[in-house]
Amino acid sequence: MKGLGVKRGRVVRVSGMQCLVDIDGEEWQCDVRGRLKEGPRQATSPVAVGDWVEVTSLNAPNGIVESVGPRRAKFSRAASGSRPFEQIIASNLDLLVIVVALAQPVLRPGFIDRAIVMALKGHIEPVVCINKVDLDSEEKAHRIGDVYRQLGYTVIYTSAKTGKGIERLEALLNGRVSALVGHSGVGKSSLLNAVDPSFSIKTQEMMRKHDRGRHTTTAVQLYRLDNDSYVVDCPGIKTLQLWQVDTTSLAEFFVEMVPLIGDCQFRDCTHLQEPGCAIRYNVEKGSIDTLRYQGYERIMASLI
Ligand code: GDP
Ligand code: ZN
Repeated sequence: MKGLGVKRGRVVRVSGMQCLVDIDGEEWQCDVRGRLKEGPRQATSPVAVGDWVEVTSLNAPNGIVESVGPRRAKFSRAASGSRPFEQIIASNLDLLVIVVALAQPVLRPGFIDRAIVMALKGHIEPVVCINKVDLDSEEKAHRIGDVYRQLGYTVIYTSAKTGKGIERLEALLNGRVSALVGHSGVGKSSLLNAVDPSFSIKTQEMMRKHDRGRHTTTAVQLYRLDNDSYVVDCPGIKTLQLWQVDTTSLAEFFVEMVPLIGDCQFRDCTHLQEPGCAIRYNVEKGSIDTLRYQGYERIMASLI
């Protein structure tokens, strides 16, 4: 849509059928044009955080979202309901930073693998960030990190407490749009504060302005950091239920399994207990890491 008064901006927050759009550094409160809410998209998100949208002005800074640009990459999960549907948590992301800690809280096996599947499914580059390395007295961090590094993924070791690895994290975020995912308490906000000390002020400001009088302060939100990078904070996202990944396609999202798919005795092998399974053979031989295979088993168990 072209014409006078049409502005382009990026959605930074969605609540209900209203959204906040950043247009040239200014925040616009926008409604969504009715026709965008119709059709197959009704069950999902007509607008999502990270979307590039065209807005017509009502009464500045209020407007209406007229159209949503193509989504280059998206971070989605299956939202439960009477019928599961795709919930787009954020779109147009470059990086999914998967944050874990080895202690406090203890690392839940399989989480990294699940998040990598979601990143690959959404065409987002995954990065593994092992935080709280100051608590790692047994050098466990590198043993886990090496598994992912050998698969070709970027792995960083950080401590928001001592500042270790923060420069590396900052360099990765620089000039890109990233989302940090991880269980509560692993240090996501501490890391973002280490990168940009005004981060907590920005989030508090946003809550003060937009969550006033509401009980939940868990909206997904896109923030701009100091160094021209953008991060999506997803505080309300606790469970990552895979969207459109099933027991027959899961192995396609495990890079080390991909070349072996098709070598199994049974064409529809699930790689769990069938005889003549090429993937299990490689696990036994040691060329597929046990940790990863256990991650695969756990995700499979959640899909069955
Ligand atoms: P979030 O829920 O993932 O955002 O986690 P927070 O950033 O709120 O951190 C949870 C707790 O872990 C806080 O008490 C932090 O001070 C602490 N924490 C965060 N990063 C580190 C770290 O690198 N080392 C240590 N020892 N504690 C950390
Ligand atoms: Zn198999």
